[in-house]
Amino acid sequence: MTALRQVRSICCYCGVGCGVVIAHDGARITEVSGDIDHPANAGRLCSKGSTLHLTTLATTRALHPELRAERDLPRTRVGWGEALEHAAGRFAAIIKEHGPDAVAFYVSGQLLTEDYYVFNKLARALVGTNNIDSNSRLCMSSAVSAYKRTLGADAPPCCYEDIDLAGCILIAGSNTAYAHPVLFRRVQDAKAARPELKLIVIDPRKTDTAAAADLHLQIEPGSDCVLFAAMLHVLIWDGLIDGRFIAAHTTGFEALRDAVRELTPAAAARLCGVRAEDIVTAAHWFGESPAALSLWCQGLNQSHHGSDNAAALIHLHLATGQIAKPGAGPFSLTGQPNAMGGREVGAMANLLGGHRDSEDPVDRAEMAALWGIPALPGTPGKSAVEMFEALRQGKIKAVWIACTNPAQSLPDQAGVREALAAAEFVVLQEAYNDTETAGYADLLLPAATWGEKEGTVSNSERRISRVRAALAPPGQARADWLIVRDFALCLGQHLGRADARRLFSFASVAEVFREHVATTVGRDLDIGAMSHELLEAQGPQQWPMPAGSASGRLRLFEDKQFATPDGRARFVAISLAATFEATDARHPLHLNSGRLRDQWHGMSRTGKVAQLMNHAELPGVTMHPADLERRGIRAGELVRVSSRRANVVLPARASIEQKPGHVFVAMHWGARRLSHAGVNELIAPALDPYSKQPELKHAAVSISRVDLPWRGLLLRQANGAQLSKPAAGPAAEQALAWDVALSGLLADFAYASLTLSGRDSPLLCLHLAAAEQPKAELLAAIAAAAGMDRTPLQYDDIRLGIHKRALIEDGRLSGIMLFGETAAGDWLKAAMLAGQAAEPLRRWLFAPMASIPNAPPSRGRIVCNCHDVAVDQINAAIASGCDSLAGLRNELQCGSGCGACLPELSRLLPEACAAPRQKVTA
Ligand code: SF4
Repeated sequence: MTALRQVRSICCYCGVGCGVVIAHDGARITEVSGDIDHPANAGRLCSKGSTLHLTTLATTRALHPELRAERDLPRTRVGWGEALEHAAGRFAAIIKEHGPDAVAFYVSGQLLTEDYYVFNKLARALVGTNNIDSNSRLCMSSAVSAYKRTLGADAPPCCYEDIDLAGCILIAGSNTAYAHPVLFRRVQDAKAARPELKLIVIDPRKTDTAAAADLHLQIEPGSDCVLFAAMLHVLIWDGLIDGRFIAAHTTGFEALRDAVRELTPAAAARLCGVRAEDIVTAAHWFGESPAALSLWCQGLNQSHHGSDNAAALIHLHLATGQIAKPGAGPFSLTGQPNAMGGREVGAMANLLGGHRDSEDPVDRAEMAALWGIPALPGTPGKSAVEMFEALRQGKIKAVWIACTNPAQSLPDQAGVREALAAAEFVVLQEAYNDTETAGYADLLLPAATWGEKEGTVSNSERRISRVRAALAPPGQARADWLIVRDFALCLGQHLGRADARRLFSFASVAEVFREHVATTVGRDLDIGAMSHELLEAQGPQQWPMPAGSASGRLRLFEDKQFATPDGRARFVAISLAATFEATDARHPLHLNSGRLRDQWHGMSRTGKVAQLMNHAELPGVTMHPADLERRGIRAGELVRVSSRRANVVLPARASIEQKPGHVFVAMHWGARRLSHAGVNELIAPALDPYSKQPELKHAAVSISRVDLPWRGLLLRQANGAQLSKPAAGPAAEQALAWDVALSGLLADFAYASLTLSGRDSPLLCLHLAAAEQPKAELLAAIAAAAGMDRTPLQYDDIRLGIHKRALIEDGRLSGIMLFGETAAGDWLKAAMLAGQAAEPLRRWLFAPMASIPNAPPSRGRIVCNCHDVAVDQINAAIASGCDSLAGLRNELQCGSGCGACLPELSRLLPEACAAPRQKVTA
């Protein structure tokens, strides 16, 4: 047996930046645990981080460069030399004919800082364009813009330790319990240790985060700014501001005070949809607290006035002096693992390295001098949404996309797909070959991914950590920075740039980091003391850490000198209207989008782990029960969700998490697993004027019944001897192979969803619906894709259009196909998940029965992933007298693993006991 080795690295999901310990045997990553020495998580991981080892499946990895000669031809395998030479030739020809702004680079907050740095240098110093933007534009740019407008620099002043010290925590536009679970556990710990700590949550939904709050302000969409301005009004007129701090350390207060004079709590209450008393309470808790901390995320940022939303929140801190001291300050939580790193190296169109601005000639000259080139381009670059619009219009001809999936994640999906189809040349640098964007790639370059890469990332609290490789990348996959370096060398030759060799002479990732460090010296984020060697020796460090410092800085601006020319923070003019895409008689509902607990972004990684699907297995649109009833819709029925741009079909769900008039669709589901591109089809590409961040959180929609009488269900499971294998073994690989084959057939149905269920041997579930019976060839293609085309057990009723198939292997059901009639779907699924022997089931297999004698019970949604505990078990335990978290832990073990389920368990307890303990505005 091969001995296991351990490597310390960082989780590749959210911006909490948890340290992980990767166990591997030299060939496979076998386990992931939390790094108890990492300050971000002290050993904790959430459900996503703790299952990272299960995501290392081989089936969908991009292993070789692939190139297609023409758009309609399939890609074929080529060597790295040919791939990069071809890409350089195409890019050089376009640049020579149309200029450098005819090409663009769209990169990712999941790249490491060193990858980002080399990309940025390629775009600005070699190509000569500012057309480089990151998908961080979709999540963080409003926070960046608000920090710069108010504090003078993109400088989150707080640290995670502030959670332990705060007297009041205000969470705005963030379901922290789902999006940043380990950080939320720290909030829960703080609350448990100090029950007097006030937790305020501002969110249009009653999320698990809101359920834990002392005060939940369930606001109307687009009214965040108004709410914060009304809180400021209360702080001013109730004498809770810090006049000395305002006078000594800020500018612009008087103008803002005058602007909010008429915005009384009563006036704001009407716009925000909350009670005036709750606005007053929130302001008093914030203003009277010895230390008030605010945490915010996409609910504020993803708005067409996201920058104003965040600035209005920062104003509350400036007005009360609740900043730059322990436990206090405005703290933006970053969505992606290295969104901060991208901001530091300037990998967004309007930024340059070291927190410089690409539109500032002095900053451009400084960067040009650092790189030893005459000048940097001055033409403004395109932000993400603008970039794809320019591609659609033919102004940008070639795009290089790295480690991101715009054909799932950008708003106005129809426009984005049109753009990718219209582009002359699309390069995709990716670890996975099955993303929605992969289908548009003329050249696919296989990239290394988590567990295979070396470099650094910066988390939400400015902490820079070393990312380490446990294994070499598979096949011919390469580290991202290396791919870019080699492309730059090729392109330099094509462009006749003799200095390309000097510019891209990096021999190691540590060398790239050294050059990045040099660009920060003398800047607000100065990390002159840092190197890979120092991070190895001393562990993760926060910026700034100038040369000569022994460690990084915990908090910023403690000397009250802000990063503005006069050292004073600024109150800025903000919108005081509650604005959003208008609802009307045709589109009367507010659509909100957000995260699921166990999924990450477009599911290219988490969507392949059955265990992570169990908490929310199917897509859906969640509505208040009264809204469903008014429309005569039952939960589970398929409905059409229509916006002014598109229609999508989804199952309806009922939940009192939603206010009446508001609906919710999770952001993760795209065309890889649905018959449509998901919620982003519905959303307009409206941009914030400062940050250019698109409004991904709101659209006006309608919901209507949809008549799709033809139904189909396919269940498939690798069976027999494979059942005993671990989830990342052959059973999971086989399920993923079927999953990929079926994915290409979904678009032909009015509704299709492709999901996984179960645990060790994943059960693939394909749900289909259509207005009429699909063509026989399409159904045959589905059967073939799932390996069900030669099953001996068949039932066909040609007259009724019913076709059923069953596959039994090693005495167990391993495949069921029900086309035209699906009544037995639920019990067959439960039987397969329970691994029941097939023989007693044989006589019922094709019966149109919703249940059979001795049918295995369906367990319901899995709440605790670590210990596989379902909601039905939890409710049964509570019904039999268990009334505490400790009791549930003892009885079922739930909540004793990663802890991601703790907020939901807390919620189930009082709900089941009919004893709600929190104050919730309706
Ligand atoms: Fe990863 Fe979860 Fe930690 Fe985020 S909170 S870094 S997803 S383990």
